[in-house]
Amino acid sequence: MSAGGGAPRRRPRSRRGERTGPLHPAWALPLYAYGVGVLGVVAAAVVVVVSPPWSEGGAPVLQLGVLAAFLVVGELTSVPVMRGDRAAEPVTTSTTFAVALLALGPLSLLLLVHTLAVALDDLRARRRPIQVVFNAGQYAVSILAGRAVFSLISGVGFLGGVPAFDAGLLLATLAAGLTFAIVNDALVSAVAGLATGQPITAMLFDDLLFKLETYGVLVALGPVAALVVGTSVLMLPLLLLPVLAVRRTAQVAALREHQSLHDPLTGLANRTLFRRRLERAIDSHGARGLAVLMIDLDHFKDVNDTLGHDVGDDLLREIARRLEAAAAQREEQVEVARLGGDEFALLAVADHPRLFALDLASEILGDLARPIESGPTRLSIQASVGITTSEGTPLLDVRTTLRQADIALYEAKHERARAVVFHPAALTESVDRLRLLPDLREALDDDQIRTAFQPQVDAVTGRVVAVEALARWEHPAQGSLLPETFIGVAESCGLISALTVSVLRRSLEAVAAWRCAGHDVGVAVNLSARLLSDLALPERIARLLAETGVPAEALTVEVTENSLMSDVRAARTILRGLRDMGVRLSIDDFGTGYSSLLLLQQLDVDELKIDKSFVEDLTPGSHGEYLARSIIELGHNLGLCVVAEGVESAATAARLRELGCDRLQGFLYAPPVDRGEADQLVGTLLRDGQRAATVDELIPAEPRPRVAV
Ligand code: C2E
Ligand code: CA
Ligand code: CA
Repeated sequence: MSAGGGAPRRRPRSRRGERTGPLHPAWALPLYAYGVGVLGVVAAAVVVVVSPPWSEGGAPVLQLGVLAAFLVVGELTSVPVMRGDRAAEPVTTSTTFAVALLALGPLSLLLLVHTLAVALDDLRARRRPIQVVFNAGQYAVSILAGRAVFSLISGVGFLGGVPAFDAGLLLATLAAGLTFAIVNDALVSAVAGLATGQPITAMLFDDLLFKLETYGVLVALGPVAALVVGTSVLMLPLLLLPVLAVRRTAQVAALREHQSLHDPLTGLANRTLFRRRLERAIDSHGARGLAVLMIDLDHFKDVNDTLGHDVGDDLLREIARRLEAAAAQREEQVEVARLGGDEFALLAVADHPRLFALDLASEILGDLARPIESGPTRLSIQASVGITTSEGTPLLDVRTTLRQADIALYEAKHERARAVVFHPAALTESVDRLRLLPDLREALDDDQIRTAFQPQVDAVTGRVVAVEALARWEHPAQGSLLPETFIGVAESCGLISALTVSVLRRSLEAVAAWRCAGHDVGVAVNLSARLLSDLALPERIARLLAETGVPAEALTVEVTENSLMSDVRAARTILRGLRDMGVRLSIDDFGTGYSSLLLLQQLDVDELKIDKSFVEDLTPGSHGEYLARSIIELGHNLGLCVVAEGVESAATAARLRELGCDRLQGFLYAPPVDRGEADQLVGTLLRDGQRAATVDELIPAEPRPRVAV
């Protein structure tokens, strides 16, 4: 009698991701494998010595020989199938013939034949000694257990054979077959449990239905084989048909299961499988060494939209490959999955999960940034990573864990190309933000988004030469909201474009009115990084300019350095398009991100805005002063206009003026004000320390002398 059909023959393996987890010490697996192996082999040897196959009477040699041959062939033609998230499990038809021999006996014959078959199979697959020993031993133990049940129920001697199968042996044979299959599965499940650090019982009961179906039928065909061979050995091949059908069904079922748990494009585990693995991991490691990393690509949709789905697919496959490579390099257990679209996830078991996850995330961000080629296209991808770990607070369940990682990812997205570890405080904030989401859609329809204008004055004359448009949300319940609470929400739900268009329209309408009144002022509008992939943007802005009759030169778009860094060409194409129309380009928060001089030149930038964090403290020798001076010098060397924002004191203004800064913006002159107040402010002079308290105090500017060119 012999091996499990469809049945349990996972072997101890050293596949990545199946290492000894913290549940079991490292020596447990080899001890167990060699223990079972040696025990089984010794017991089998004793049986063969005490009662060799040839010493016992029983069924005719021809019949036994044919059954043994079918068993060996079945064993050697076993087909490995992928089962869910586990590696290949061979489906073998040998079970049926093993069960027949289990009933017909003698015991030593089955032990010998089965050991021979398994050894041949191991040899062919070049398995390691520990695997060979374990396989031989575990089958011997399973056979001995099956035979014990058989002789207990049937009353037939433990060692000897029966001359022919009859119906009286049916019950005993079925019970013996099932015992054989179950013991076999239990012994193998224990190896898998020890290897992956998961509870052994969980492994045993895993896919119980699948196993019962396959073993059940193959075991049930065992008595039929014993009966048929007694009638005529020539009829036995007929029995192969149902046996092969069972094998095929098992294969198809396994294949289908595999497909349902994997992403067809990348071959990675899919969301279902990832959740399943996460659930198991939380059970065994949730309290300590577990980390979940959620990865989302920036601008993937645009790649798909502009370069086509083939390029998108190539990109996803390459990213999957890089993630797998990054995971494989680690000593720790790291599993990769594609959750859908451009979202990937990693599950890691490590001693210091937080540190490990951050390190892995930074490596991954670096890996993904390396250019990816797809045909003639060369792309560089930025991604954001949201992390949650069991450090500090244990991970409780799949839903909460994924939600935490999601929130961290949201934070990371907000900051662009960064990894963020979940912290509980983020929860309330995020919930608040998420609550805003449905409101924001309504707000845009209901005109609740207002535009405030903050003047920028000429540093020398104090004349208001431009305004920066800043969005405000008049929330019906929460009052006036600042952009930091809703710009991120708008970005994440695709409303940023509509929001920006609304700000642009109001700004250009205002500028048109001011210019009509004879005030030569410009307006600066902030463009979020998200928008720099919207290839329709230049076109839309051109239309707005035409509708309002504002010359392109009167519009400045402010973008941050980092929003230019993603190599997706769209950003540059869009900005160059705007530049070609005559729109001014300003780099906002300059000095806080990364950009190169080359980039400034390539994009033909007009203006640098010194970030307000540097302007805050301009005392001589301070960090801020040093940076402000460098930026002004740099800007002037490149022929750019330099604007300082966040100017709050006259001393700061004086210092900036000394350094040669061209324009000043800040509370010293005016906070962002609504349209009505802005109407009063443009065309006036705003002097330091004379911050206009009332409109009456404003000094009307002299009409600007025209400069002859
Ligand atoms: P930003 O572009 O750096 O805008 C300047 C921010 O500094 C404004 O904050 C302004 O109110 C504030 N500010 C002005 N003067 C002073 C000062 O003297 N001292 C200090 N401490 N702060 C000053 P606000 O309006 O809250 O805007 C915050 C950010 O939100 C803006 O930063 C901009 O990045 C973004 N934002 C605002 N409106 C829009 C918009 O329509 N679209 C997009 N994409 N982003 C926007
Ligand atoms: Ca700005
Ligand atoms: Ca700024």
